[in-house]
Amino acid sequence: MRKIKSFFIVLLAGCTLSAQELSIASPDGNTIVTLTVNDGRPGYSVRHHSAVFLRSSPLGMQTNLGDFTQAMAMETTGELLNIDETYELSSIKKSKVHYRAHERTVRFTQGGRPAFDVQFRVSNNDIAFRYQLLPWNNNLACRVLSEATGFSLPEGTSTFLSPQSKAMVGFARTMPSYEMPYRLDDAMGKNGSENNGYTFPALFKVGKAGWVLVSETGVDSRYCGSRLMGQSGGLYTIGYPMPDENNGNGTAEPGLALPGYTPWRTLTLGATLQPIVETTIVFDVVKPLYGASRDYAGTKGSWSWIMKMDGGTRYDVQKEYIDFSAAMGYETVLVDALWDTQIGKEKIAELARYGAGKGVGLYLWYNSNGYWNDAPQGPRGIMDNTIARRAEMAWMRSIGVKGIKVDFFGGDKQATMQLYEDILVDANEYGIAVVFHGCTLPRGWERMYPNFVSAEAVLASENLHFNQHHCDREAWNATIHPFIRNTVGSMDFGGSALNKFYNAHNTPGRGSKRITSEVFALATAVLFQSSVQHFALAPGNLTDAPSWAIDFMKQVPATWDDVQLIDGYPGKYVILARRKGDTWYIAGINAQQETLKTTISLPMLSAGTPLTMYHDDAQLNGAVKTTRLPKKQHIQIEIPQNGGVVLVNDRR
Ligand code: CA
Repeated sequence: MRKIKSFFIVLLAGCTLSAQELSIASPDGNTIVTLTVNDGRPGYSVRHHSAVFLRSSPLGMQTNLGDFTQAMAMETTGELLNIDETYELSSIKKSKVHYRAHERTVRFTQGGRPAFDVQFRVSNNDIAFRYQLLPWNNNLACRVLSEATGFSLPEGTSTFLSPQSKAMVGFARTMPSYEMPYRLDDAMGKNGSENNGYTFPALFKVGKAGWVLVSETGVDSRYCGSRLMGQSGGLYTIGYPMPDENNGNGTAEPGLALPGYTPWRTLTLGATLQPIVETTIVFDVVKPLYGASRDYAGTKGSWSWIMKMDGGTRYDVQKEYIDFSAAMGYETVLVDALWDTQIGKEKIAELARYGAGKGVGLYLWYNSNGYWNDAPQGPRGIMDNTIARRAEMAWMRSIGVKGIKVDFFGGDKQATMQLYEDILVDANEYGIAVVFHGCTLPRGWERMYPNFVSAEAVLASENLHFNQHHCDREAWNATIHPFIRNTVGSMDFGGSALNKFYNAHNTPGRGSKRITSEVFALATAVLFQSSVQHFALAPGNLTDAPSWAIDFMKQVPATWDDVQLIDGYPGKYVILARRKGDTWYIAGINAQQETLKTTISLPMLSAGTPLTMYHDDAQLNGAVKTTRLPKKQHIQIEIPQNGGVVLVNDRR
């Protein structure tokens, strides 16, 4: 980090009481944040390539120590800093990240006394900012009652949002768990379902100017997770959890020791969706909170539950899935709910030994509760209690368990953020990787907690089993996630099914029917990123699925070195490229009725590069062929509705 003198500040001379203004420009000068105080109210606005992306948007907060949304003045303390950092991120999006930003911290005072600082970091396509609340009247602790913090989108903006669920509803009163269907290309001026706002990340199309993604990161035990509340006039403000979450236990408002930081709120801006799909901002501004006790990322596995449900959590079935994972070259098997009663700890230890002999480790499912829901599945009452949890994890380590999947969390209150953190910290001590399910959005956790490997927080593959409607909508949903949910965090979707039918033996006519193609399934293994994957494959697929599909699923990576968006639109289609070493995987899917016929440009590969192409015909019959990248590095592709395409450059 070095200080630079070439920042530009405008203090409107003679107007310091009624109006103050200060601008921070990105390294390329094209993104400009302007901080203002108008009649004592702090705010900011954002321009990108001269277009207004955020109009004057409020800053400040009310705490139990004071109202810091009005009667404020801006002090231009703090120098402009040039942030230029590189770091490694093995678990998501890009293995090596180069982060550049201009940073400036601005102090806001009330009655001449410092109240809070706002730290802004402005990159070419990203903005991150957070508050540091300062001691007030010798008080060193506060409750933050509400934030004025908002995002005022220009008129004509359309929204791509997932509503927040009402609390204590759904299966066993387990919601919210970030599983509400998206509403695409919607008008502003709404506030979700039953006025409960929206979950992060939130995507907006700002007229013809481009796109902006709003999210937050760096949320840990020192704050709550927030949501976005729709107001009138295009304004969306930070909202805290609903009081009913966690069965009404725990405060909705966060408590903060002073001085203390809020989470970072982030904006990613672009004329196209490319910067949004490729952003690493939620990882750039956070730091690892502890060291990894082992290398966690990058494993693939299978799980019986997605096809066989609770009844399949039996010793013989899990043994069969260990054999299946071994046959696939996968490292893990996820033993889902009810293993405590249907298998038992002694037999789990036997399975762990059996798996170890085949190079396959176990992930064990746990219920998080707890006093916050009625979910009856066991094991219960372990992960919510430090003493029981640590004793259990010591047992897990003794039998070589690789990871846990903890399900059914109670919401976004600070108390729940504390629980997520406590589980992660303890698990790292015992060398255990952690997947969260029925949970919140991970907010920078891949970098903050090195043994955090994935989270659900999406309408995931289980719904394909539960209901034909979700199978019918599978492609539509799948074209959304690479642009929104998966841009800011690992996504434990548990998909890529090759069964035609979601039932134990792939029996025709029973359960919901997959209407997407095999190539679509392969494509989602590339499109949906999670550094630990448990695919919805079944042992029968070794013989009932095409061999090229099984071979692909054997070799597809779980972690990647780079990502590039090629083309797409949420709800219509997506084509993106991920790189592992020297190998590019270009994956596309199409949800539109019309077959997508397009020419894509692959400048990352040289002309003449041999390519393996997985493709569908109009009836969704998949096939694989080899071809070469034409001279101009353009290649024509066709993707029918519910179909896919995958191109892989030949590594030989
Ligand atoms: Ca779920």
